[in-house]
Amino acid sequence: MQADSENKAGEKNITRRDLLKVGAALLGAAGLTQFVGLNDVRVRGSETDHEGGRKWGMLIDINKCIGCNYCTYACQAVNNLADDMLYNVVTAEETQSGEEFFLSRPCMQCAEAPCVHVCPVQATYYRPDGIVAMDYDRCIGCRYCQVACPYGARVFNWKDPIELSPKSPDFGMQEVENRPRGVVEKCHFCSHRIDRGLEHGLTPGVDHDATPACVVACPTGARVFGDLNDSESPIAIARAEATVTLRLREELSTEPRVYYIPPTPKPETDQEAGS
Ligand code: SF4
Ligand code: SF4
Repeated sequence: MQADSENKAGEKNITRRDLLKVGAALLGAAGLTQFVGLNDVRVRGSETDHEGGRKWGMLIDINKCIGCNYCTYACQAVNNLADDMLYNVVTAEETQSGEEFFLSRPCMQCAEAPCVHVCPVQATYYRPDGIVAMDYDRCIGCRYCQVACPYGARVFNWKDPIELSPKSPDFGMQEVENRPRGVVEKCHFCSHRIDRGLEHGLTPGVDHDATPACVVACPTGARVFGDLNDSESPIAIARAEATVTLRLREELSTEPRVYYIPPTPKPETDQEAGS
């Protein structure tokens, strides 16, 4: 079906080139008793508004990712998504030297986001904390943003909201309001958890109730979240400890806020070294 194939096209193999680079370079929020409307947060900002303030980012350690897709499933449960709606995609990839690995991709929350630039009605916008958000009441479904996104991070909802995500209750329960049919949807770094968590004195990236569901659900700790401007946040510490981090498609100058620790090349065996 069109919806399926188009949304799976969101998984377009944009990562091949990134992976060559890689080779070369080297859940449920307790207490949420009602759904949160993502449109409740209407504060619009620009990239400069939050310099010096909080700037949310994610680090994904590819070496720890086992491709289980729990991150994707938790995201689907929390956002009440059907099986053919993916805000987060996990693909199996290979390094130049033929080593397999998994690449998990949420929205990159670009600081220079092509999706924001092309939207004719400002339905997608920067929050002051840098999250690229959606105003679903404004979206006219033109899909310019979906075409402009170089990461295949956006999905168009062809269908009416479903009762219950097939990933619930196993991976969590719905936490945000359903979106109307005919709009483009995307990952929002679980901004509802961040906002509510901060209101309750919690620390996103540290306290589960204030941290994106994908990060909480990951069984291997491959995903780390936090404030990039806080040197004591989990993400700042993880980035400082990593030998190398990279971002996808740096050449586009989109300034993603999702960082990766690339696969560490396996040491050569004696036989390989001698051949
Ligand atoms: Fe927009 Fe795509 Fe960047 Fe997300 S990854 S902010 S949807 S351009
Ligand atoms: Fe990888 Fe963690 Fe996602 Fe599983 S939950 S696919 S290990 S990032």
